[in-house]
Amino acid sequence: MKLPSTGLPRDALYAELEAVRAKDADWRRGRTFGLVYYAGDEILDVLRHAYGAFIHENGLSLDAFPSLKHMEGEVLAWCADLFGGGEATAGSMTSGGTESILMAVKTAREHARARRPDLRDPVIVVPITAHPAFDKAAHTLGVGIVHVDVGADGRVTAEAMRAAIDERTILLVGSAYAFPHGVVDPIPELGQLALERDLLLHVDACLGGFVLAFDPTAPPYDLRVPGVSSLSADLHKYGYAAKGASIVLYRDKKLRRHQLFAYGGWPGGLYGSPTMAGTRPGGGIAAAWAVMRYLGRDGYERLVREVLDTSARLRAGIAAVPGLALIGDARHSVMAFTAADADVYAIGDEMHRRGWHLDRQQKPPSLHLMVTPAHGTVVEAFLADLAEATALARAGKIEAMGPGAFYGAIATLPDRGMVEDLILDFMDAG
Ligand SMILES: *Cc1c(COP(=O)(O)O)cnc(C)c1O
Repeated sequence: MKLPSTGLPRDALYAELEAVRAKDADWRRGRTFGLVYYAGDEILDVLRHAYGAFIHENGLSLDAFPSLKHMEGEVLAWCADLFGGGEATAGSMTSGGTESILMAVKTAREHARARRPDLRDPVIVVPITAHPAFDKAAHTLGVGIVHVDVGADGRVTAEAMRAAIDERTILLVGSAYAFPHGVVDPIPELGQLALERDLLLHVDACLGGFVLAFDPTAPPYDLRVPGVSSLSADLHKYGYAAKGASIVLYRDKKLRRHQLFAYGGWPGGLYGSPTMAGTRPGGGIAAAWAVMRYLGRDGYERLVREVLDTSARLRAGIAAVPGLALIGDARHSVMAFTAADADVYAIGDEMHRRGWHLDRQQKPPSLHLMVTPAHGTVVEAFLADLAEATALARAGKIEAMGPGAFYGAIATLPDRGMVEDLILDFMDAG
């Protein structure tokens, strides 16, 4: 296919943009329980305005754009306050959770290199429920990674983490909350362990940070906890920013220095860059600043109450469906459930046919919901369809036909390498 030789007038182009999205997941009406965090058209309008206003500005040079320096500085200061930082706290805005985590792992590696020059093969220790961004970071940075099993409630224990530590360990990880089951790891115990063994501890609050920060009953999880050395939180999830916005914070600015990159030998000039990206979109920074300023503490508290109320209604409804069981005791905005005497993937495919998009999970087979303000009005309709889909699966009247069948099939494969080859084939085919 070649780029068409003549351009398209704007009207026709805009019509084509609408046409091309016809089969996309319908997030506006609350049919999607992942990927999209939509909090209404007013906020969407704020994001559009701010993103559009800074579309060409480049966060690579904060000297050229004091506007971005000002907004990034305020976002980081607000976040340092929300996540319990102190005078010495410093951080960066990044393009997302994966980049924030990549930076935290790189920082830990450089920190270890500076302190322990003899250490040849540094390793990070993470609960098995930690996000694959840690695996991607370890893979990319040439660092080893050890996965620690979690209990039946989905939480890792400090004892299990302790047993995985050896002389190569540089960093421990806990999640607040973890993606699969929405539960918060025991951060104070992990912090004690990190202090005792003189290790860094990163709290991944990418998913839960902007919920927990506005929930007065949240367990301790942030920089207030002794031993926590860094924390990541995604603005483009429950911060309701435009896609491409996250933060990584360090308890101490001295630690952040290990994150920064400089190259002084380039004919193109003296080069310094704080994160992975070179050019950093001004729009992402401006939109994140704008939505935080627009909502204020009040606005976030209202949205968190709304989301937690919807989550509680969904949990009660799911628990009441015969044959379904929630995993763990999550009480925030993420939940997962299994089916005792039916194929849970068949239920997922049936829900998909009915227009509901739930993530599929493994170990154990389960379906996953991420609850947002868009779901407040669909709880009853969702639960009615879920009860019907579950009854059909239990009666053996439906089976997994779509992606659920794929999940069912890979569960029987003997080793992870075969599963990973299949995932690569799938991506390669695109
Ligand atoms: C989403 C998520 C990440 C990764 O964030 P991206 O923005 O998708 O790169 C990391 N950790 C947790 C717990 C997440 O939910």
